[in-house]
Amino acid sequence: MPKYFALIPAAGTGSRIGNATPKQYHPINGKPMLWHALRPFHAHPRIERIFLVLSPGDAWFAKLNRDEFSPKLEVLRCGGETRARSVLNGLREMAGRVSTDDQVLVHDAARPCLNAQSINRLIDEVADNEAGGLLAEPLADTLKRADDRDCIVRTEPREGLWRAQTPQMFRYGLLMKALGTGTLDGVTDEASAVERLGLHPLLVKSGVTNLKVTYEEDLRMAELILNSRSSHA
Ligand code: C5P
Repeated sequence: MPKYFALIPAAGTGSRIGNATPKQYHPINGKPMLWHALRPFHAHPRIERIFLVLSPGDAWFAKLNRDEFSPKLEVLRCGGETRARSVLNGLREMAGRVSTDDQVLVHDAARPCLNAQSINRLIDEVADNEAGGLLAEPLADTLKRADDRDCIVRTEPREGLWRAQTPQMFRYGLLMKALGTGTLDGVTDEASAVERLGLHPLLVKSGVTNLKVTYEEDLRMAELILNSRSSHA
């Protein structure tokens, strides 16, 4: 039976959030965003181990109490210049500890509101799909094409368009082939690398609460989502 592993690239600087603190360490409800990203995988019984990719010079992680995630967490200080490079470096370090057929769930540290139900849905729907799959959300808004003055040029059809999220789940061997072959230019998620092989990963409907924190105001939204869950617990 294949095992399930999490791989979390957390070696970015997150400059769009406008602060010297790397984005993954911004506090949400008193804990760094990374803590919230690790928690659902740590608590999930189907996840065997979490591989966390940090930049080699990361001095922030030491402030996080890693004992909370022991012994499931393994820290790899092999982050690269881009997200795709950090993921590939992490995959290479996992060699020997993970089998070709094992499933790897790659998840951004910048998505702190993932819950166990979404992990279960991803695993249940994608486990038997050889092309892998990812959490995603169909586009709900009307799409406008703009010119350089922000005036509408036309309305674009939104049928069949989805917003890709993470985790994205693929077999270890497939991920190594997809990311380890050819250039990483333009590879903004694992699915896009797998698509280059001519495969068609499955989109699994997630929900808008699995938001990605990019700007300052996203932090407050993440806090609201997490607080609403704890008040219903
Ligand atoms: O910057 P962005 O939000 O797109 O980053 C997505 C994820 O990739 C974050 O968890 C970030 O820390 C990670 N990343 C990385 N190495 C980089 C750039 C981003 O691990 N060089």
